Amino acid sequence: MTKKIAVLPGDGIGIEIVAQAVKVLECLNSDFGLNAEMEQGLVGGSAYDETGSPLPEATLKLAKEADAVLLGAVGGYKWESLDISVRPEKGLLGLRSELELFANLRPAILYPQLAHASTLKPEVVSGLDIMIVRELTGGIYFGQPRGVRELENGEKQGFNTLIYKESEIERIAHVAFETAMKRDKRLCSVDKANVLECTELWREVVERVSKDYPEVELSHMYVDNAAMQLVRAPKQFDVMVTTNMFGDILSDCAAMLTGSIGMLPSASMDKNQKGMYEPIHGSAPDIAGQDIANPLATILSVAMMLRYSLDAEELAVKVEKAVDDVLNQNLRTEDIYTQGDTKVGTSAMGDAVVAALKS
Ligand code: NAD
Repeated sequence: MTKKIAVLPGDGIGIEIVAQAVKVLECLNSDFGLNAEMEQGLVGGSAYDETGSPLPEATLKLAKEADAVLLGAVGGYKWESLDISVRPEKGLLGLRSELELFANLRPAILYPQLAHASTLKPEVVSGLDIMIVRELTGGIYFGQPRGVRELENGEKQGFNTLIYKESEIERIAHVAFETAMKRDKRLCSVDKANVLECTELWREVVERVSKDYPEVELSHMYVDNAAMQLVRAPKQFDVMVTTNMFGDILSDCAAMLTGSIGMLPSASMDKNQKGMYEPIHGSAPDIAGQDIANPLATILSVAMMLRYSLDAEELAVKVEKAVDDVLNQNLRTEDIYTQGDTKVGTSAMGDAVVAALKS
């Protein structure tokens, strides 16, 4: 059956890096039987320039009708002075909420070939492969009531609400267990159940959902300990699942263990395995249009798309292996280059991944 992919390059380096990911998808179509139809749309600053909106109706329709969305990045200096309602980032947030993408999957993978790029000792991080599953549309970032109020004595008081319904915890727990089933079958749920009632409920519901996944070994960890363990011995983790705010913080911490922003993909999923796939980095206007951006995070986002939305695990593994192959050939874009490597541009890196796929 034909799968539909909405391709949204966005702004800045988004255009160059997505072009490389499209080369990979075209190769999978022609040589490996992937039956994917790609259609491009505008999002972010470039969409604003063309239509007056960072998320035009046509793009939203395209994304809604697709099986998966491939996104580059949005934003840039040019649009920084725009009113907040039409800034490029609104396009991204609009897509996340309109598509109800409640589960954010962020792997932190460190290829042994790039272990020197981390600020941690190579033996601590070499071969690191963690998946953080973060709840993306609930918790304290969205909870009501919220605001800043004035007390009787005139002092101001700020407040937010950490709030989760059982159904919200259940659905993210299912995503996490399903993700663990596709990996090493170990899941660590991170909470603060010793202090916060809301995450006491989180723990209870995750325990309950675990009955559906007897093969997955479930553990629980308080968030302060999890932060410490991520830096002390990160390789102990396989999949971690946590709330919106804890996930925000822990996933950035885990990403930085790897030291190379141009290498990390991400997925944001709805309840039907439909997802939006994008590199974790931004539009990097400082290097846009120079053919020096690293396209591997975007190409690895394609691998996630194949695995989680297109039911093509075999092809996902092939793409990941092709990336591993080009690193073994010592091909490096500028951001991951060290002396002795062969420096290549964005487009040449895309071509090298395609050649590795075909070899
Ligand atoms: P950034 O991630 O774009 O760049 C940070 C640094 O990393 C820059 O020096 C950049 O050159 C480098 N870098 C990023 N990706 C790279 C790659 N693939 N290869 C090589 N080097 C790479 O973050 P920023 O500079 O804070 O933000 C720039 C713009 O991107 C802003 O407008 C911001 O709002 C936007 N942004 C968008 C997203 C998104 O679309 N998901 C995420 C973060 C930032």
